[in-house]
Amino acid sequence: MSVTQSDLAFDQHHIWHPYTSMSHPLPCYPVEAAAGVELHLADGRRLVDGMSSWWAAIHGYNHPQLNLAATQQLEKMSHVMFGGITHPAAIALCRRLVAMTPQALQCVFLADSGSVAVEVALKMALQYWQARGERRQHMLTLRHGYHGDTFGAMSVCDPDNSMHRLYQGFLAQHLFAPAPPCRFDEEWNEQDIAPFAALLQQHADEVAAVILEPIVQGAGGMRIYHPTYLKRVRELCDHYQVLLIADEIATGFGRTGKLFACEHAGVVPDILCLGKALTGGYMTLSATLTSRQVADTISKGAAGCFMHGPTFMGNPLACAVAEASLTLLAENRWQAQVNAIETQLKQQLLPLATQPKVADVRVLGAIGVVEMRKPVDVAQLQREFVERGVWLRPFGTLIYLMPPYIIEPEPLSRLTAAVAAAVR
Ligand SMILES: *Cc1c(COP(=O)(O)O)cnc(C)c1O
Repeated sequence: MSVTQSDLAFDQHHIWHPYTSMSHPLPCYPVEAAAGVELHLADGRRLVDGMSSWWAAIHGYNHPQLNLAATQQLEKMSHVMFGGITHPAAIALCRRLVAMTPQALQCVFLADSGSVAVEVALKMALQYWQARGERRQHMLTLRHGYHGDTFGAMSVCDPDNSMHRLYQGFLAQHLFAPAPPCRFDEEWNEQDIAPFAALLQQHADEVAAVILEPIVQGAGGMRIYHPTYLKRVRELCDHYQVLLIADEIATGFGRTGKLFACEHAGVVPDILCLGKALTGGYMTLSATLTSRQVADTISKGAAGCFMHGPTFMGNPLACAVAEASLTLLAENRWQAQVNAIETQLKQQLLPLATQPKVADVRVLGAIGVVEMRKPVDVAQLQREFVERGVWLRPFGTLIYLMPPYIIEPEPLSRLTAAVAAAVR
């Protein structure tokens, strides 16, 4: 099946794409297949993928082991309800999740997407305090954060992007500390935690939880901050007995050079949100993990249970592929792969910092970010990238790449060369 001009016209007139106008949509590139680190366009061109389909496709596309897991599960059942039923795929996946995350995280809630994992985490924090008989209904978070597009998640996203203004009066009001100013590789400045510490002290008895993206703030600005900031946040949460929710939906599963970004700071959250790369980019699935103490407290509350249960909870097909993806991670090639990507990204991107149009360049693990002084023309830049045989999708002032871990040096050089050409 091939994509015709009439198909593209139908798409333009009838199908919403992410953050896109229905009346003036940006161009879309028809992809007919994908394998390894390449997307195959309908016109026969092949693009080196620098996005991992938004952090997800860490092992590359059309992976034989992930395909096998999907087809084997398909032959048994693709879905069955999770209420009153369990199945081997969910059990195997959750066993792995409990084993690979910090010892304290023991209980897993499976849901549909990253945003829903965040909703679940926020609801858990609220029910936790309700069960303890305390009225704590606010979250404390960081500016430049991103936690998803559903209402609860949006309410803890950066308040200065348009989403808050658009839905003003409809979103829950939370507390925002300034984004961490100290860069990952700078010397730590103890003053940098002071505004956060002051906010928490001031509102300690109304804050249910702190929610943040550990080390890398993704869609809210691709900012990479100092591990000591996160360490201090954990200490302050302990001091004021506030729950810490780590949203590792983007950073989890090796992307930052550690299996989980919290490891950079040696901290363990009370609630951990996972998504994106969980299924190796095959389908949507998320997991929210908590400590036994959090789970038990919620279960002792007035409701006697946690009040959430999506229709497709624990979807067997997604669980089977996720389990296969975690099996691949457990073979432990990701560490060397991510290290090699980091070294090459540093060599090839950091020199761009001297270009007049470039404001900043930063690299951590398999993430490379070139921040421009002015917003880029996404449609124009994408056209140039596609002509150069690469797939990158900039936003705002940011040209960034996070390739699949399996990428070889040569295709990675094509990506960085395309970025270099774009900023010159
Ligand atoms: C992408 C993302 C989400 C939302 O996940 P969806 O699957 O798009 O709902 C939440 N938090 C972070 C940090 C993310 O990067």
